[in-house]
Formats: sequence, structure tokens, C-alpha cells
Amino acid sequence: MCGIVGYIGPKDATPILIGGLKRLEYRGYDSAGVALIDRGALETRRAEGKIARLEGVLAEQPVKGHVGIGHTRWATHGPPSDRNAHPHLSTDNTVAVVHNGIIENADALRKELHRKGHTFRSDTDTEVLSHLIQELFEGSLEEAVIGALRVVEGTYGIAVVSSKDPGKIVGARKGSPLLVGVGDGQYFLASDASAILAHTREVIYLNEGDLAVITADGYRILDINASPIRRSVETIAWDLDAIERGGYEHFMLKEIFEQPQTVANTMRGRLRLEEGTSKLGGLNLSHDELMAIDNIVITACGTSWHSALIGELMIEDMARIPVEVEYASEFRYRNPIVTPATLCIVISQSGETADTLAAMREAKRHGARTLGLVNVVGSTIAREDDGGIYLHAGPEIGVASTKAFTSQVVALALFALKLARKRNLSVTRGREVTQALDLLPNQIQAILDQADAIEAIAESYKDVHNFLYLGRGYNFPAALEGALKLKEISYIHAEGYPAAEMKHGPIALIDEKMPVVFIAPHDSVFEKVVSNIQEVKARGGKTIVITSRDEPALAGLMDHEIRIPETVDMLTPVLASIPLQLLAYYIAVKRGANVDQPRNLAKSVTVE
Ligand code: GLU
Repeated sequence: MCGIVGYIGPKDATPILIGGLKRLEYRGYDSAGVALIDRGALETRRAEGKIARLEGVLAEQPVKGHVGIGHTRWATHGPPSDRNAHPHLSTDNTVAVVHNGIIENADALRKELHRKGHTFRSDTDTEVLSHLIQELFEGSLEEAVIGALRVVEGTYGIAVVSSKDPGKIVGARKGSPLLVGVGDGQYFLASDASAILAHTREVIYLNEGDLAVITADGYRILDINASPIRRSVETIAWDLDAIERGGYEHFMLKEIFEQPQTVANTMRGRLRLEEGTSKLGGLNLSHDELMAIDNIVITACGTSWHSALIGELMIEDMARIPVEVEYASEFRYRNPIVTPATLCIVISQSGETADTLAAMREAKRHGARTLGLVNVVGSTIAREDDGGIYLHAGPEIGVASTKAFTSQVVALALFALKLARKRNLSVTRGREVTQALDLLPNQIQAILDQADAIEAIAESYKDVHNFLYLGRGYNFPAALEGALKLKEISYIHAEGYPAAEMKHGPIALIDEKMPVVFIAPHDSVFEKVVSNIQEVKARGGKTIVITSRDEPALAGLMDHEIRIPETVDMLTPVLASIPLQLLAYYIAVKRGANVDQPRNLAKSVTVE
């Protein structure tokens, strides 16, 4: 999920690797490291924290060489620390690996390699790769890497060096980007072109499943059978800023478009399609403990509070356990009814949100078990909770949360499913949900493909002063989130309401200048929402309606229609939030707002 750079050529590799890692800093990371072949032996230097710390380590213990790899880590397995920073060495110190992504079968491989005598020195999933490559080495590094990649399941972008085959770097990709940089008598590997742009603009983007072998004299691209393949060299036209944003105008847009992958990553290795349930390794709750929960409190702030509201509906509907959702800032200062039979779920993208952390500590003081849903591995909440579910959505840079939100909802769905299947939910109903979850990434992509049409709608409303967002059931929280997104980045006043509540007040605001966004997929409350749309139209309001099929009942009621695919009711907010994010984004851009860093807002709210 983070950064890789590799260098082979006539120059000293260390400053080139450090320069490349610095260019990757914008992605966010928690530790960094390098490995070089220094006079025939592999040397690694690693440090938790900023690259400046790694530079400090290198100043004290310099390494020199013409072949090297470097990494910025964004932890998924094992907290950020010096020992978990990449590169990871094999037991005999002859192989070093840097890796982006997740090895799903790492636990099983670790046990097997342990039996064969390998010593593990980190908590990472990555480390199995270096031991496996050592195990399979018979003279050629690329063959050993191929052998290892045949065994691992999961996603990877990797770069590997070995003192036993010292004149090369082997790279490979599956689910995580990697490219080869072609310089003048020097070659590079990088997870994104910004790392090597100071040296070359000629690159080969590797395809899924490709391997690359770079030497001082050239490069070869191979498939998983070691057969050579041809890939064309492209010249990068983008400037550095554009590369960092993956060619998108803003990080927020990039993150919106990443959601087919990030939602898949949240589910990776966790979905049990046939059994209609999920496998969540980090809960730290035994079967008996799960069965003993008699109420749940979910506490969070902002966008995470909206995902909590969706989680409440899912858990109550499927697992039949009473759930309360509380703003963390309120929960911490009252006298909540929390007992040892309470499970307290806390949700925070950063895992550092001050109010949420304080609320979790308060719940603990009352004897509750705590479960953290966080994106940043090793963050304070992740360290202090009793168990957790990592979102695996990758670093979120845009201040207004998008991909973390959809991953939170998916993680809550996985948890609700597990709880419900343990209690009373039938395998048939469980399977309906797992099958629907499995379809989500492609369905999200289908909505993203309509971005141009949503941009056109944004054009019509960029100058309004107020917006109303209405939905019912699972989509009332989606309405709140849609309104929050617009407020945060466009500074337009927007409110979310349960659609039927409109007539108890907000209806007074409706006139021909008031756009109303309705979230009206074909779910169990669809007919009810249609009546609310009629009430708005009767008063001249403008309607933007998110629907999921041809509905004669909506004829003449929609000024604009946005279609989302059909899914089970509980997952409709995941799909509905995609057009809501895009609408907010395009309106904000058209108003000239600073989308990635909206005024007065911080990414991680670490103050009370
Ligand atoms: N899963 C690996 C780890 O936790 C790689 C993390 C990354 O992509 O930076 O170390």
C-alpha cells in the first residue's frame, strides 16, 4: 500500500533510494528502510517514523553499493516499529524483500517455514516471502521468486535482492503497482513514477502478474512461467504533482476512484461465501464471549458516526442485539449504561481521534469489551482496544473521508454477519449478504463509470446556498453523510434528514431554488420515499434522485436521476455514497474550493 524504490547502476544507491523514498512521503507511511549489497553482503537499515530518522541511522552506520531497494511502510500486519519496517531478511541474511500489499496465507506459511527451521524476526506478513525465497533458491533469484509467488495468496508489489545472485533486482506485481524505470546505464523499480522522476521519464508499467529483472545492463519482463514478455516503454508526460495524485486532479477524486479496490481489500480473506459468514482474525472474542454480548454501543465522530448508524441497523436487523450509537464527544462526558456484557465498538479512520479514544477508555473503565474499527495499523486505538478489524483501505490523504467510510460500512457488515450467523441467522440469509458483498467492487466501478453525468448535474447546482439530503432506513445515515461531504468541501449549507421527517419542519424551506437529493433505491421503504419526493415536487423543489431500477412511480418526479445497481438493503448505503461523494466533489471543484484541504478541517482530529 505504500512505497517501493529500487536502483541498479554505476552510482551509489543510498542517496538515490533515500531521494526516491522522500518523493513517496506524500502517500503517508509509518517507517522506512533500505537494503543494499555492500561488498558482497546484504546490509539493511530501517527505522520507525520519518525518513529523517532513517537518514540518521545511515549517518551513523553508512552503507554503500550499486544495487539496492528501499521502502516506506504503511503497516497492515504488525505495528509500526524498527523491526517491522522493511526490507525483511531471510534467516541466512542472503535475501531481502520489500513488499506492498497483504499476504493472506502468511500464518500457514509462517508455521510451515518455522518447522523447516526459519527464524522470524518481525510480525509482518511480508517476512514469509524472504524465507520462502531462501528456501527455493537454486542459483537464480528470479526462479526462486517465481517459486515463492506460486505459493503465496494475496496482493503484492515486491522488490527483492540477494547476495547469492547480486547483480540484479527482481520485482513483481499483483494487485499493487510497480514499474521499471529505464535510465542511461541505470535501471530502477518503483511503485509510482514520482520516486524516480529525477532520474528518468522512460518507464515500463508492469501488468498484473508480471515480473521484472533489472541488471546494470538492462531489463527483462517475465511471466509467472519465466517466459519473456514484451512491454512497451512509455514516456511520462505528467508533472510530479499529477503523478502523486495518480493523474487525478485531487487526492479525494483518486480515493473515490480507488473504492472498488479498497472495498475488496477490506473483505480480502474474510468472506466465507458458501458458509454465508465472515472470518475476522483480530476480534479476540471467543465463541462464548460473542454469545455473551447482550448490548452494543458504537461510538465515533463525523463520517465514522454515520457508518456507526448503518452498523446499528445491520446488527439489530441480523443479530437481534440492541445497539446504541453515540457521538464519542458526548459519550465520554455522561454516565453511560455500560456493563461487562456490553461490547463497545469504536470507529476512527486514523485510530487517533481524541474524543473516540477517550470514549473507548471510558467504556473500558465500565468493564466493557472494546473493538476498534480503524484504518491505521498500530494507532493508539488499535493498541488499546481488546480486539479489532482493520479496514485495509490504504492511506487516506483527502481530508474529507471517502474510501475509509465505505470500508467502515463493509467491515461493520462483516462483523454483523459473523455475530448473526453465530446466533440465529440462517445460512441462506447469510449467503445473500456474502454474495452481495462479493459483487460490491464491480458495482462500485459501474457507478464510477457515470462520473461525467454526475459532473453535469453538479454544474447546475454549483451556485446554490442550501441543499437537503433525504433517505429512509439504511439510507438515512447515507443522507447525513452526503450532506456532510458537501458541507465539508464546498461550504454549501446542507442537511440530511430521514425523508419523512421533512414534513415536520424542513419542508418550509422548499422552493424552486432548493435542490433535494433523495436516496431511493428499490428497498423496503421505496414506496414511502416516493411519497416524500412527491411532497417536494408539489412545492416546486428540484430533485436529484438516486434510484436502482426503472420505476414508473418516479415518472415526472425526477429533475435528475442517478442509477446505482441493486443490492441487499443493508448494502445500499455503500453504493449510494459513491454518487454522493462525486456530487460533492464536483460541486466543490466548480466553486474553486480547496477540495483536499478544506478550510478549518484537519485529517486526524487529535484534540478534544
Ligand atoms: N503487509 C505489509 C506489512 O504490514 C506491507 C505493508 C505496506 O504495504 O506498506 O508490513
